[in-house]
Amino acid sequence: MRDIVTLACTECKQRNYTTTKNKKNTPDKLEFSKYCRFCRKHTPHRETK
Ligand SMILES: [Zn+2]
Repeated sequence: MRDIVTLACTECKQRNYTTTKNKKNTPDKLEFSKYCRFCRKHTPHRETK
């Protein structure tokens, strides 16, 4: 049971990436450092709905 989650830039709030996770195994919010082409740099990207 993998659910699709969206990763949004924490600086400009653009939704740049999607990934999947198992909500049973990973109940907390995901956060990854990813390149944001709107900020033109790496920023923390956080899971959104
Ligand atoms: Zn950004």
